[in-house]
Amino acid sequence: MSGLGFHNRRSVQKRLGTFWNGARLVILLGPPGAGKGTQAKRIAGQYGLQHLSTGDMLRDNIRRDTELARKAKPLINRGELVPDDIVLGMVQERIAQSDCENGFILDGFPRTLQQAQGLEGICRLYKSKSITVLNMLVKPELLIQRLANRRICKRSGHIYNLVDHPPIRPGICDDDGSELIQRPDDAEAVIRERIRTYEQHICPVIDYYSVRGLLYEVNAITDPDTVMANIMKVLDAEDPAK
Ligand code: ADP
Repeated sequence: MSGLGFHNRRSVQKRLGTFWNGARLVILLGPPGAGKGTQAKRIAGQYGLQHLSTGDMLRDNIRRDTELARKAKPLINRGELVPDDIVLGMVQERIAQSDCENGFILDGFPRTLQQAQGLEGICRLYKSKSITVLNMLVKPELLIQRLANRRICKRSGHIYNLVDHPPIRPGICDDDGSELIQRPDDAEAVIRERIRTYEQHICPVIDYYSVRGLLYEVNAITDPDTVMANIMKVLDAEDPAK
């Protein structure tokens, strides 16, 4: 499945013209709780990339109560994956927007072999030249503890951890004073299912990028600054402008 059935290839190509010529694409792989969201935001800021999180896109659909959300919501609430065709269509729509022209970082996508294959079709279409895949490695026992203690600013999406990085005032975002919330799928039973689902599907994705020489492993066990420094070592060495 190419994932390009949603659009006529020619019309997309025409509309995009020279988009993406040499644009940088970073893919962040890692289980729920690896810290992908935190690092993706930092990488986006540091390298001028657009941050695209499929989880955020799906939650935005749920907030807007779209038709897509009606299919996706029960699956997300159970910790299962949303079908590949839905996610691929959503990603393809998003990256056709002009703010992705200079490159972007994918957080939470691809999660299955079919999604990786669909993304490759999209990249070929848009002539993306530089792809770096970072696989964030974390001890499994850390994941549940990180996710169960995660709180998120309702407005900005800023991520806190009640143990490692608590807000100054309980339940309130340090940056903008908004309420901190817990994601419904951060309930422990759902966390376990999300981790199981991730592990069930990710091995062929890792192999796919590994055989193409695009995969880099990043130690993600330590504090966010050290993890970012590890990531920057890889991205700076792979800088397409160098
Ligand atoms: P996490 O990776 O920490 O579980 P996300 O915010 O990335 O959190 O995803 C939340 C949920 O959204 C997932 O459990 C899954 O149901 C759905 N989802 C997100 N990205 C994808 C994807 N690429 N393919 C299928 N489902 C996805």
